[in-house]
Amino acid sequence: MKSLSKLFRFGVGPSSSHTIAPSIAANCFKDCIKEKDVLTIEVTFLGSLACTGIGHHSDVAVIEALKPYPSSVKLDKKNRAPHPLTMVFSAKLKDGKTIERTYFSLGGGEITSPDDPKAVEKDIYPFENFASIKKYLVENNLSLKEFCLRYEDPSIDDYLLETAKRMFACVESGLKAKGLIPTNNNPRLHWQRAAGAIAERAKTIQEADARREILLTAYAYAVAESSASGELMVTAPTCGSSGVLPAILYYEYHDNGKTIDQIKDSLYVAGVFGNTVKQNASIAGAIGGCQAEIGTASSMAAAAFCYLEGLSLEKQEYAAECAMEHFLGLSCDPVDGYVVIPCIERNGMGALRAYDAFLYAEYIAPIRANQVSFDDVVSAMKLTGDSLAAAYKETARGGLAKILKSK
Ligand code: SF4
Repeated sequence: MKSLSKLFRFGVGPSSSHTIAPSIAANCFKDCIKEKDVLTIEVTFLGSLACTGIGHHSDVAVIEALKPYPSSVKLDKKNRAPHPLTMVFSAKLKDGKTIERTYFSLGGGEITSPDDPKAVEKDIYPFENFASIKKYLVENNLSLKEFCLRYEDPSIDDYLLETAKRMFACVESGLKAKGLIPTNNNPRLHWQRAAGAIAERAKTIQEADARREILLTAYAYAVAESSASGELMVTAPTCGSSGVLPAILYYEYHDNGKTIDQIKDSLYVAGVFGNTVKQNASIAGAIGGCQAEIGTASSMAAAAFCYLEGLSLEKQEYAAECAMEHFLGLSCDPVDGYVVIPCIERNGMGALRAYDAFLYAEYIAPIRANQVSFDDVVSAMKLTGDSLAAAYKETARGGLAKILKSK
């Protein structure tokens, strides 16, 4: 498992796998060609990147990152991709030679490469799954935070504090933002930013449960609308699902009296659950469907909420499992490849599901013990994701993307 700083990355939306990762790959490639006389660079996107890269601003991200080199982007939707998120960078040199490197985007902004070792990020946690982490915690009488601090660089605590602050800045700027989210000419995608109006509506609701749900929705929309607009954000675990965890955390901070230090500590908890999914399944919609993005984000948020409410590790695991279990099979079908429909609303539902999972962990667990571990549900998510057809994995060819596509 990798550092929590690789799970909570700072970057611009709308997509960690299609926007942040291509930009990181472009910078790695620039390292491979430095001190060469480069004429031009061509970047070929294959698989999901070819199908939805334009809506996800992947072309803009690589061209910008490759500057000052002149570059162009080719979308190859015909050839079979060796990986669902493949990028091939090819530089033509003045001496007639060519330098080529292939990169794969893995989700959440992580990349790997068969021919550029510098692109491969290192594991720092020698654990494979949640059961082995839990066993270690019990044997050593550690909290999840103490566990993380045994393996992370000491700077991680400051990094997570900065993560919490950036998440909240994103909620607050999203609540104030107005105007259209930039998309194409499909009228279905002409989405006026709605988070602020939803928060205002919440203030008028007398009934406490409904008010909380609409507030959580406003916070999730605030971040998801910002991400869809290409603004600065924190992956949690991805850009597409970046509204779920901040919504739950901001609610606890702004409406429920938790301190920023408590919020920061809850990120250790959310991070370990997110890392477990990343290690054993995937957090990329193009690899595992939306269950891998919104399902994981909801698990992380549910566990963090339980932690903040003082529930045990067992209940945190129950909630994380429960949140994921009922998103199993969720497809990734962004209309015209823009991270708008169904993505923004889905962030709201992910936050509500996280809260519901907390309720189940608190009130149902003492009555009926959960029979499904977090590792079980992650294995089921991987199995399901592997079986999903490509049309339902961020290619904009199935589901809502097919029904609502521009004419
Ligand atoms: S449908 Fe889900 S996984 Fe797909 S782009 Fe939208 S938020 Fe991401």
